[in-house]
This record gives sequence, C-alpha cells and structure tokens, in this order.
Amino acid sequence: MTQPKTPPRIHVLAKPTGAICNLNCSYCFFLDKEQLYPGSKFRMADELLENYIRQLIETHRTKEVTVAWQGGEPTLMGVDFFRKAIAYQEKYRKPGMTFENTIQTNGTLLNDEWCEFLKENNYLVGLSIDGPRELHDAYRVDKAGGPTFDNVMRGLRLLQKHGVEYNILTTVNAANGNHPLEVYRFLRDEVGASWVQFIPIIERINEDGSTLHQQGTLVSDRSVKPEQFGSFLISIFDEWVRHDVGKVFVQTFEAAVSKWIGAPSGMCVFEPTCGHAVALEHNGDLYSCDHFVEPDYKLGNIQDQPIGDLVGGDRQHQFGRDKLEKLPKYCLDCDVRFACNGECPKNRFITTPDGEPGLNYLCAGYKEFFHHIDEPLRLLAEIMRRNYPAAKIMPILAAQDAAFAKAHPNDPCPCGSGQKFKKCHGLHKTKKSRKTACQPART
Ligand code: SF4
Ligand code: SF4
Repeated sequence: MTQPKTPPRIHVLAKPTGAICNLNCSYCFFLDKEQLYPGSKFRMADELLENYIRQLIETHRTKEVTVAWQGGEPTLMGVDFFRKAIAYQEKYRKPGMTFENTIQTNGTLLNDEWCEFLKENNYLVGLSIDGPRELHDAYRVDKAGGPTFDNVMRGLRLLQKHGVEYNILTTVNAANGNHPLEVYRFLRDEVGASWVQFIPIIERINEDGSTLHQQGTLVSDRSVKPEQFGSFLISIFDEWVRHDVGKVFVQTFEAAVSKWIGAPSGMCVFEPTCGHAVALEHNGDLYSCDHFVEPDYKLGNIQDQPIGDLVGGDRQHQFGRDKLEKLPKYCLDCDVRFACNGECPKNRFITTPDGEPGLNYLCAGYKEFFHHIDEPLRLLAEIMRRNYPAAKIMPILAAQDAAFAKAHPNDPCPCGSGQKFKKCHGLHKTKKSRKTACQPART
C-alpha cells in the first residue's frame, strides 16, 4: 500500500555508480559526493537492482514508467547491468505497461555493443557536450586533465550510426557563457541535435573548499554569472525563434512556450512546487532531489522502506511545498513569476534588493530573458491558439524585422501598436516589461 500522497507517476534518477565517473570535469558538483560513502565500491548490487525495478513498477499507477540512469558515469557498470534492468522490467511488468529507458552519459565509453543494446531497447540517451572543442575542453577533462572532445564526438557518431535517439545536455559556464551562438550553431549544425538542454553551472564553494553541501554564497569562478546566463539564453532564443522553431527543441524555450499558453512547463525548476523527482544512490539511499544528495535530504533507504512511501511521505511533500512557501516577496511581486517561480531552490542563496534572503542567484538573468521573450511568445501563443503550426512565427518575424529596419523614428510603429516607432520598437526592446509590451500582431 503506497502513501495516499504518492503521485501516480514518480521520476527517479538512479545512480548505479554513485558519484564515480571516468572523467574529472572541473565543475562537476557530484564528484565530491563520493565523500558521503567512504569505503564503498560504488556499484549497485544485482539484488538492489531487482528490488528497485520491482518497487518502481509497483509504485506507478500509470501505464508509462520512466527508468532513468545517471551518474557519475552509469556506463561504467557495463552493458550487462542494463540488460538485467530490462529483464527485471519484463519480469515485473503490469499488463499494458510501457517503459521509457533513459541514460545520461559523457559518451566516452560508448562502443558498437553499447549502441546496439541502446537501439534495441529504445533508450533515449542524454549526451553531455559543452560546445565546440575549445569550449567543451575548458572544463570537461579526463582524470589526467586531458581533453575529452574527440572521445565524446566519437561516441556521438556511434549513436548516430546505430540510429539511437539522443538529446544533448550542455552546461552554461564561465568559459562558454559568452559564446552562445557559437555553442548553439555547433550543436545544431555539427552535432545535428534536435533536442538541447542548457544547464547553468552554479558551484557553491563550502568553507573547506569542497562543493559537498548547498551552503554559503561563494561561487566558483567556473560558475556562470546571472546576466551572462540571461544574455546566453536571449542570443540563442533570437536565433531559434527566427530560424529553428519546430526543428530544434531547446528545453528552456519549450518550457517558456508552455507557460505562455498557460500549460505546465514540464521542468520542475519552473513549476511552483516540486518534489516528484528523487535521486537513488548505488546503495538504495533515496534523496529528495539529484541536487540535494546530502545527509539532511536523505529520505531513507528503499531496502528498508518502500520507495512509494518515501516519495509520498510528509518530508518529501514539504520539500516540494517549500519551493513555493519560501519564495521571497520580491518573487511574489514579480511580473514573470508565472514563468520562473523562483527557479530551483538550490540556487536561492542571495538576498533581494530590500534584504530578504532566498532570492535566486540567477534572478537578474532570468528576469531579462523572460522580459525579452514576452513579445515573441505572446505572438507564438496566439498562433498556436489559432491552431496554426508554431513555425508560422518565423515568416511573421522576418516581415516585422524588415519593416522595423525601414521605419523612421516618427513613423507609426509597424507592429500596429499605434505608437510612434521611436517610442515603441525603436526603443531598446529589452527595456519593455510584460505589462507594457505590444499585443501580438494579427496572424
Ligand atoms: S530542488 Fe530544483 S531540481 Fe530538485 S526537484 Fe526542486 S526544482 Fe527540481
Ligand atoms: S525573475 Fe527573479 S524575482 Fe522573478 S520569479 Fe524569478 S527569481 Fe523571482
């Protein structure tokens, strides 16, 4: 019997090797987590694997179950571990149940055998690439400090050769943060990515120099700056909305589009509450979130208590509610809260302009970004409401851009607002707020 508060579908990020990885990416927040398990072999035992898959299936009250593997580097477990995971899915499958298997990898250990297995079992592979060679190799290094770009690209080409479905996870950090278009065009044109996730690197440095706990306000110099992150997203958005709508899916943009049409974003960080995505360590310890694998957020061990009870318990419920209940007033009053919701609690460690704690470190960047995309997303939302394909926005913006380029300061603004161009789109667009932006053009 699961707890009444257990959601019908849960998302567990399982880490079969714990924090152990074959690389040594300098910004990786997870490598220090090895200290939580001194003396451990960091390999999920077969017995636990079976127990976990059985519990995961039993907990679900939906037909679809996601089985997600992450690390450290999960491919260090070898293909046979994952063959067993598939066999246990078959053993415990409820009638009509389907599985989505996913794995996040640095790609460097992939070979033909791996890719054949991944293809055969319809895995969705998340591959980590930070951009072209120099930007990728800035922090994504091996144990000897050497570059990894060639090895990752070799893994990518193998995935492509075998027709394995993949998406790209790109961190945004101090090294690539000022090169948004270089990064995006590389991913689109050379990697051939159609699904991209951008993850900001914010490494909080503890007093002892480690990154083990979410403590303090000091961030490493590898971390992206708030405004840098905002500009990064804005530059890529402007390219995407004019050229790639419907062809390239950028997770943050898809989430924003959903918010502008009044739907859930699909990203926990942008929802008012969270707590449905937990992290499972190699020994069965369950934590509130992948970003809170630390003693204060350990919910228990799934070998002692059912996973459904831990996820549906009061502690995890409160963890998810805290995201909303601990929002500072500054966020409550914010005109883009509907889209941002204070983002992830792990990043809420600065103070608001009036001194209230709990503001998100990335606030300035997110505010700028959400204000900037307001006008095109209102237009896109209107297009979608009328059941036109989203890609219709591209020729509309092209026509608008051409009209803006020709407009004189005292002309009526081509957007149809009725204002003079110099008072409307002749102004720097990013100064517009959600409240003052023009209404969508007619389609
Ligand atoms: S803490 Fe952050 S990453 Fe974790 S579930 Fe909540 S919003 Fe998502
Ligand atoms: S943009 Fe800033 S103020 Fe607004 S909700 Fe997000 S973090 Fe809060």
